Amino acid sequence: MSLKPNAKPVLEVKDLQTYFKTDAGIVKAVDGVSFTIHEGETLGIVGESGSGKSVTNLSIMRLIPSPPGKIVGGQVLFEGEDILKLSEAEMRNIRGDKISMIFQDPMTSLNPFLRISTQMIETIRLHNPGVTKKEALERSIEMLKLVGIPSPERRINSYPHQFSGGMRQRVMIAQALSCDAQVLLADEPTTALDVTIQAQILELIAKLNAQMGTAVILVTHDLGVVAGMCDKVCVMYAGRIVETASTEELYAKPSHPYTEGLIKSVPRMDTAKKNERLFSIEGQPPNVIDLPPCCPFHPRCQKAMEVCRHAYPPVKDLGNAHEVSCWLYLDEKTKEQALQDATLQEKA
Ligand code: ADP
Ligand code: MG
Repeated sequence: MSLKPNAKPVLEVKDLQTYFKTDAGIVKAVDGVSFTIHEGETLGIVGESGSGKSVTNLSIMRLIPSPPGKIVGGQVLFEGEDILKLSEAEMRNIRGDKISMIFQDPMTSLNPFLRISTQMIETIRLHNPGVTKKEALERSIEMLKLVGIPSPERRINSYPHQFSGGMRQRVMIAQALSCDAQVLLADEPTTALDVTIQAQILELIAKLNAQMGTAVILVTHDLGVVAGMCDKVCVMYAGRIVETASTEELYAKPSHPYTEGLIKSVPRMDTAKKNERLFSIEGQPPNVIDLPPCCPFHPRCQKAMEVCRHAYPPVKDLGNAHEVSCWLYLDEKTKEQALQDATLQEKA
């Protein structure tokens, strides 16, 4: 969690838009997402299920199933180069080598028909052509040891199904880490695991981040994990980032009513009273098909105003690298203008 003052930006996502064409209409899964992550930094992405977190990561890896999906706009700059413009062959050199991903479901990235040894050796040699099979095997065993697989020399000859869910997750993590990528995308890496293993895996990711300077994007439901591991946080709602700030700032001054709701719905040891009901955000996240041009959170928001029902709020810079998209923070003139424009458009 130590951001060096002169750390270089490694990954810049600019106005990313990823849509899916479905029978019901266009699903705007990611609609104008932007963030920057520096060397050695850990960025948390939080938000309810369906808010576009996985699609954001899969877009960075260029692994969106097409059809039905398509990246329709924006840029993903890796060390300054837009990887959305690369050919599939060029992208294969980036994937797993420069940017690697721990998937929500470990079976997405492991081949059930091949021994772990074969898969790991192949991955390493694909990205380091000079490495011999023997060296790649040694390195794989070392990685398995690092993620806490007991007797890795023997277990490396197993097939994925011969491992328990937790061990499989570790194998996938070992594989994702075996190439010293500069960026690690970890998409809810621990949801399927028991608490002890969860903690160990997170510790491992934190260690890589600290020792190798790997930039990490951590998608998680767990705001406690964010508080413990992330330098900054993006809160996603309905395909967009509604608030970004350093972790400290976000917890001290949550500004979007959605962020406030998320934070209030986490049980706290220090303030929780006995039998106190935990806060939960009423209502369901919206369908991202044919979203009208309003703030998509307004039906669930207790502070919603007239303008929220008609126009999407522009980003407001609150200072201290804290940004929020909420009409509460915009001045009367801006709100009046937006409402006027929206009314004209609705009439047209
Ligand atoms: P999260 O990871 O935040 O839970 P996702 O990024 O997986 O959410 O999904 C965002 C939206 O994109 C959801 O509405 C989801 O239904 C939609 N989506 C994801 N993949 C597809 C697909 N292959 N086809 C159609 N819609 C999809
Ligand atoms: Mg997801």
